[in-house]
This record gives sequence, structure tokens and C-alpha cells, in this order.
Amino acid sequence: MDILKLLKDSKSSDFSIRNLPFGIVEENGTRYVASRLGDYVIDIRSFVNLMGGMEDFNHIDDKVFHNDYLNDFIALGKSVTVPLRKAIQAKIEELRFSESIFKMIFSHIDQVKVCMPLKIGDYTDFYSSIEHATNVGKMFRDPNNPLLPNWLHMPIGYHGRASSIVLSGTDVHRPSGQFQVNEGEAPQFGPSRNLDIELEMAFVIGKENPLGQPIPIDKAEDYIFGMLTFNDWSARDIQRWEYVPLGPFLGKNFASTISPWVVTLEALEPFRVQGPEQKTAVLDYLKVEGAKNYDIGLEVDLICPDGAVTTICRSNFKYMYWNMCQQLAHHTVNGCNMRIGDLCASGTISGEAEDSFGSMMELAWKGTKPIKLSNGEERKFLLNGDAIDIRAYNVVDGFRVGFGPCCGKIV
Ligand code: MN
Repeated sequence: MDILKLLKDSKSSDFSIRNLPFGIVEENGTRYVASRLGDYVIDIRSFVNLMGGMEDFNHIDDKVFHNDYLNDFIALGKSVTVPLRKAIQAKIEELRFSESIFKMIFSHIDQVKVCMPLKIGDYTDFYSSIEHATNVGKMFRDPNNPLLPNWLHMPIGYHGRASSIVLSGTDVHRPSGQFQVNEGEAPQFGPSRNLDIELEMAFVIGKENPLGQPIPIDKAEDYIFGMLTFNDWSARDIQRWEYVPLGPFLGKNFASTISPWVVTLEALEPFRVQGPEQKTAVLDYLKVEGAKNYDIGLEVDLICPDGAVTTICRSNFKYMYWNMCQQLAHHTVNGCNMRIGDLCASGTISGEAEDSFGSMMELAWKGTKPIKLSNGEERKFLLNGDAIDIRAYNVVDGFRVGFGPCCGKIV
């Protein structure tokens, strides 16, 4: 493999030269900080050591790069990680790699194990798509007045559980719990019958704020390192029975799946767009200037046990009513401190079109319109053996920037 061919081949992959995300891989028993170009991973420490012109980064402690997680690397701050990524991009485009240097820096993806990129301390899930909140309100509360009175005034969220966040490719066990089969009846215990997905994206905290010091909205982007795709698996029957009065609990915390490569905000910069108009004036701490949404196409595939693949949803991250800056400003306005590696998920991302809804509950409209699959089968919720894969990407100047797979199979 030579670098010119790799640059060409990677152009149409999620990991073109414009992406250069960060992740953790394991090779010969050790884990290290890596980037990704097409089907190859880049050993960042070797890149810095072996390529000329990377002297600005030579001083960085080895322990930052030979590490089980990205947290210490992220903690270097954007003043280091942004120019480092830029320098790698520029050096690759100069195409000056001898065969032996190439082999020391690049490894084929099949030669390494892709690992959990972050030590996630805390995880928060928002509820920031107006289409999703409206659909849920119409189905379960009041079709004529679907949004709760607080929804247009702040990004609603809840604290999730970090321990059960798993990497793409990890099987998901169908949870058991309490639920009512029919309303008004005594609850039963058993495996969830309404196992669902939530199509989400999540941002990774890249800078800490001390306890008691809110992050002002105009500084919020400095605190966001990058993004992942996120599947917030949800047991609707368990959720429905438990969520009043304190919100989601066992219907959510059995598993959430993330994609392995953290795509930086800098890589997503070309896709920045204006968000939807906010219909109700927001309080000052949530007022924000400029384009704060990102145009990132989203697709959800359902893969049946027989291998049949159906794209059940096509949505876009740009539909989000509350943007990441507003979420972060709101999350910390009471003084709550964020820590490096914390994850904030968007909430289910639905659009207006019926095929853009980000959960099966909405796609099948509470079971009244079963989802038709390519092999002739139908689904209202997931069956054992079904797998879900989320894809997210856009293209700039012919270069694709994407997130790779975010998949899990129900067992
Ligand atoms: Mn969710």
C-alpha cells in the first residue's frame, strides 16, 4: 500500500483525510491513541516521532499516547490537539513516506482491535428533537397539546448510566423487568416485549469547568472535543411503567452503544448550519448567535437474523431544536461540573417525514403501522437476533466524513 493509493481509496470511506478522528486500538497486546485513514489506523506517537516537522509535539509524555483511553490525550487541550491533527493532515498530503516509515506508522484495520475510546465518567441524555418530543406526546399524552409546558423553554435531560455504555459490535441482552401488559392491570415480570432503539448522536466533553462555575453559552464549543453516534436502546414497556415521577431508569440503563471513533468538531466544521427557528423566546443564558447545528445525514439499518437489511430510518442531526451549546449551557447553569470524557447524548433525532423518525415506537406509530422489512417480515419492536446499525456522514469537496458503524445485536 502506498500513501497516494490510500488517500484515493479513503476518499469515499467514512475516514477520508478530512476526517482524521481519534480512537483507541490494541495491537500486539498494547493500546494506543490512533487516528484512522480509510482501512488503516495511524499510530499518533510514531507519527510524531518519525515524521519531520512534528517537533511541536515531541515533548508530549509517552503515557498520553500509550494509554487505554483518549481522556489524557483530550486533556492536552484544543491548543495542542487541533494543531496536531492539522499537522498530521498536512504531512499526509505531502505524500513523503518511505515504505519502512509507512509500515511503522500505519496498520491495517484487520491487524488491530478497535477499543472503547473513552473512560466515561458521567453520561447525560437529552430530549432535544421537537419532532420526537411531539410524536411521543401525541402517542402517550395529548394529541392536541403534545409538548409539556417546559419543553420550549429549556433542553430537557436526565442523568443516564455510564457503566453500561458499550462499544459498537457488543451484543445487547434483552432486559427483563416489570411492566403492565394492559393498563390498569397488576404488573408482570419478564423479558421486555417492546425493545426499541433511539437514534442519537453524543458529544464528548473536552475541557472541565470547576464545580459552581457555569459554562457560558458563547464558550460552550471550547468544551466540546468531538462527537460519536449513539444508540440509546430502550425497553418501552419497562419505561412506561416506571418513568413517573422520576424519569427513565431500568428501561434505559441496560445498554447504550457508541461508535468507536471520536470525530472532532473541526472535522465537522464544513457541515455547520443554522438550526430550526426557536418558536418561543429563550432566557438569556440560552441565547446563542450563529449557526450551531450540523448537517449530518443519519441512517438506521435493521438486519434480520436471515441477513436481510432494511434501512428503517433516514434522519439528520441538523433537525435538532436545542443545539449542543444550549444543552451544555443549560447542563452547567446551576454550577454542575463537567469532566473530560463525559458524554452528552442528543436524544432521539426525528425529522418531520414519517421515515425520519428515530425510534421504532414512532416508525411503527405505537404498533399501528408495523415497519415493513426487505424480506417481507414486519416489526413493531426488535426480536432476538435482530441487529441495528447506525450510520452518520456528510461529504465535503468529494471527501466523506463519517462515524463508522454503531451496531449491536439483540440476544
Ligand atoms: Mn434517549
